[in-house]
Amino acid sequence: MTEQVTKSEEEWRKELPADRYAVLREKATEPPFTGKYTYSKEDGMYRCGACGAELFASDTKYDSGSGWPSFYEPANAANVRLERDESQGMVRTEVVCARCGSHLGHVFDDGPQPTGLRYCINSCALDLEPKPD
Ligand code: FE
Repeated sequence: MTEQVTKSEEEWRKELPADRYAVLREKATEPPFTGKYTYSKEDGMYRCGACGAELFASDTKYDSGSGWPSFYEPANAANVRLERDESQGMVRTEVVCARCGSHLGHVFDDGPQPTGLRYCINSCALDLEPKPD
C-alpha cells in the first residue's frame, strides 16, 4: 500500500506557491495552453507537485490538443486514485494523488491505444524529473 502523506491545509498553503495550491488543494484548473508541460517532450518522470509521488512517465505522454499535458496511463496505478466529480454541471472522473490526496486533473475515455484513456493533468500539479543522461 502507498504510504500516505497527510498535512493540514495550513501546512500545504505555506509550502506551495499560490497557483499550485489553488490547483492541488482547491481543485482549480489552470487555463489551457498556459502550463509549462503542455508541449514538453522531455524524457523523465512526472511527479506530484505536492508530495513527489511518481505519477506519469514521459513515454506515455502524447499531444491531445487539449492544452493540458495528456497521458494514456499512470506510471504506477497505485499512486493515483479516481473519484467521481459532479462539479460544474458535468460528471467527470477526477484524478487524485493517492499519496497526498491532491487534485491532479481528470481522466476521459477519448485517449489513444493501448488504454483508450486520456489523463488530462494540470502542468502546475506536476514536477518533471528529467531522465539522467
Ligand atoms: Fe501527491
